[in-house]
Amino acid sequence: MQLFKRIAELYAQRAQLPLEVDQLRLLERRYLDFVRSGALLSAEQKQRMSAISERLATLHTLFGQNVLHDENEWQLVLGEDDLDGLPDFLRTAASQIAGERGLEGRYVITLARSVIEPFLTFSARRDLRQIAFEAWSRRGGQAGPNDNRPLIREILILRAEQAALLGHDSYAAFKLADSMARSVEAVDELLRRVWDAGKRQVVVERAQLRHLARAEGMNGDLEPWDWRYYAEKAKRSTYDVDAAEVKQYFVLSNIVGAAFETASRLFGVSFTARADLSSYHPDVRAYEVHDQEGRHVGLFLQDNFARPGKRSGAWMSSFRVQQSFAGSVSPIVLNNNNFCKGEPTLLSFDDARTLFHEFGHALHGLLSRVRYPTQSGTAVRQDFVEFPSQIFEHWMYEPENLRKYARHYQTDAAIPETLLQRLLASRMFNQGFATVEYIAAAILDIELHSQPTSSTVDVDEFERTALAVIGMPPEIAIRHRPGHFQHLFAGSDYAAGYYAYLWAERLEADGYQSFREAGDPFDSTLAARLKTIYSSGDSRDAMELYIAFRGREPTTEALLRQRGLRGEASDASLSAVVAVPKI
Ligand SMILES: [Zn+2]
Repeated sequence: MQLFKRIAELYAQRAQLPLEVDQLRLLERRYLDFVRSGALLSAEQKQRMSAISERLATLHTLFGQNVLHDENEWQLVLGEDDLDGLPDFLRTAASQIAGERGLEGRYVITLARSVIEPFLTFSARRDLRQIAFEAWSRRGGQAGPNDNRPLIREILILRAEQAALLGHDSYAAFKLADSMARSVEAVDELLRRVWDAGKRQVVVERAQLRHLARAEGMNGDLEPWDWRYYAEKAKRSTYDVDAAEVKQYFVLSNIVGAAFETASRLFGVSFTARADLSSYHPDVRAYEVHDQEGRHVGLFLQDNFARPGKRSGAWMSSFRVQQSFAGSVSPIVLNNNNFCKGEPTLLSFDDARTLFHEFGHALHGLLSRVRYPTQSGTAVRQDFVEFPSQIFEHWMYEPENLRKYARHYQTDAAIPETLLQRLLASRMFNQGFATVEYIAAAILDIELHSQPTSSTVDVDEFERTALAVIGMPPEIAIRHRPGHFQHLFAGSDYAAGYYAYLWAERLEADGYQSFREAGDPFDSTLAARLKTIYSSGDSRDAMELYIAFRGREPTTEALLRQRGLRGEASDASLSAVVAVPKI
């Protein structure tokens, strides 16, 4: 506590101290971190705070283990007769998984997102889709030794108590007080506006899917295990985009090359393979990063493939962060993906987007040029941290990049121009679904974390009620149900923070709009201004950084436009943009 006393003294005199911007920020951040961990509380309260933190850490770990258990445990074993509709890549992957599990000659579907999502998209067997979907939706939320629901109840109570001790009305209020959004109200305003627009779009999409399903002879209502399947068909009939065909043009090594070249053109860095460096697994690739003058910038590692026991999803992490305070320290950054390994590995359009996304985070770590390690790279407010990653995705969609890097895995032919145009147009497709499944989860997150201290939550009932109140369309499932909502419960980083992706999307859509306005995706002036955001880490305020790049605060219009959503129902000016072209 001697340290906090000293920091509090300095904090009190900060206006008089000769501090540079990053130093003042560091002082304020340190003070705030102490206060938010309970430094101003009584001895008794502090003891309670640390007991809560300790218990939460245990609960978070257990939560993640339960999800991993359910994902690994469950399998759907299929024979040749059960493969209706499944494209080759999925058959190959399912056969490989079967082999790994000692079931040679069969096909195994697991609950890893990279397997279950394509299965739900392509399997023509409605009965199997239902079985798989229900298992996927239940994971972490079934009675038994791996049930996460009791853990969630305890986590929510402890977090609410933590927030109350620190003088906040709820955990959400506590969490958002230290964010770029600053308040629950600001988050709510954004979520509700985009939710309404998403729901209006779902009405349009549902009509189209129902029509298709009826034409195929399906009776009864669309169910959540039907949506992806018919959406894929509708996408094909509207845009003539066949995901299996598209995949043949997205070879992993080419897309990695595209990401590297984009970074090079925008920010002047180059990537050299270092096969001589061995890592923790033979699948991991190491690259040395240099700047334009050939100086060492850092190391970049990529661990791209799914394997048994590996956490699902995609993420970036650092083995070492950049700083210049204790000598000149270069960053060592890791990207993880969970692609199905193949010969060669082929990606879906969305996998390629994910790769660019995580690489955007990696650049945030690699381009960092700050003095203090605690301000380095991605150490920014959580609703700002997705901005550098999400804006980078736009360059994956740039036709210039696609023409060069989307090449057929056998013939090396560039992606046909018509397919490319249809692919880009199809990005607007199914955005009602995507918006609704995500925002429902973001709203549920805020609601769960807005509960007062003493309330005990029946998780299933709470979920049902919350979704009923917002009028969740019955054919669409929430993207993460509480039992496996790892963002919220396998750690506290994204608790009351799942909205952050949309918050960042507003920044990213609005920010990329500036390159559109300039008429050049590699406009050097804008790229230099954007690089400042990647290199500044948390050494400056996020909104200040954004305004320095964009010239003003962000607005929501570009976000709605990029999702193909209508703003207000009465807003006729947007109707030209949302008309679905038949290409
Ligand atoms: Zn991210």
